[in-house]
Amino acid sequence: MTELDELASRCHDLPARRWLRRMAIMQFETGASGWLADVHRCPSPNFNERPAGCVPELLVVHNISLPPGQFGTGEIDALFCNRLDCTAHPFYLELVDLRVSAHFLIERCGSVTQFVSREDRAWHAGVSEWRSRRDCNNFSIGIELEGTDYLPFEPAQYDVLAALATTILAEYPQIREDSIVGHSDIAPGRKTDPGPAFDWSGFRDRLMSRRARPTPLLNEVPR
Ligand SMILES: [Zn+2]
Repeated sequence: MTELDELASRCHDLPARRWLRRMAIMQFETGASGWLADVHRCPSPNFNERPAGCVPELLVVHNISLPPGQFGTGEIDALFCNRLDCTAHPFYLELVDLRVSAHFLIERCGSVTQFVSREDRAWHAGVSEWRSRRDCNNFSIGIELEGTDYLPFEPAQYDVLAALATTILAEYPQIREDSIVGHSDIAPGRKTDPGPAFDWSGFRDRLMSRRARPTPLLNEVPR
């Protein structure tokens, strides 16, 4: 049972309980051209085509917050869309002329934004290697969690990450459960995210229980 299921079972307010149950069994609609149908879109110019023959085989989990340790600023969207005011904070001086993106961002409240089609190559991994293959951007999907290496992530972020990963694994069978890694796993010594605060076993438990659950039909979803 996820935290959302538990919250729903304890909630005495009927509309709130229904909403929590909907969130707990959330499924994403895959939509067309690699864009999810039902999440916020903020298209980034920072992408290109995957090399011929490359399909997603790897899911990379990251963390990011801008400025570091501050949440809900909207500046991650700005960075990924090349409209961050790099004079606004001393840390941003490191980001001048940086051209980066990820496929998805999961904010602290669990809200999801998609920046790049899953069919395209987002620029999230940088210099990287996985199972002797270099340049992981070619064959991966990148998911950013709003957070830091050392601050615990929110339960809603784990639930949404598990739901998103379930959708992606169903869509790309080449991505197996053991092909979900952290940025630090493919760029050791250079990158530390998602960091020690990321609860891998809790995430994998959620993913397994979600994948084992039959997909509810739309008319079975509580309203
Ligand atoms: Zn990263």
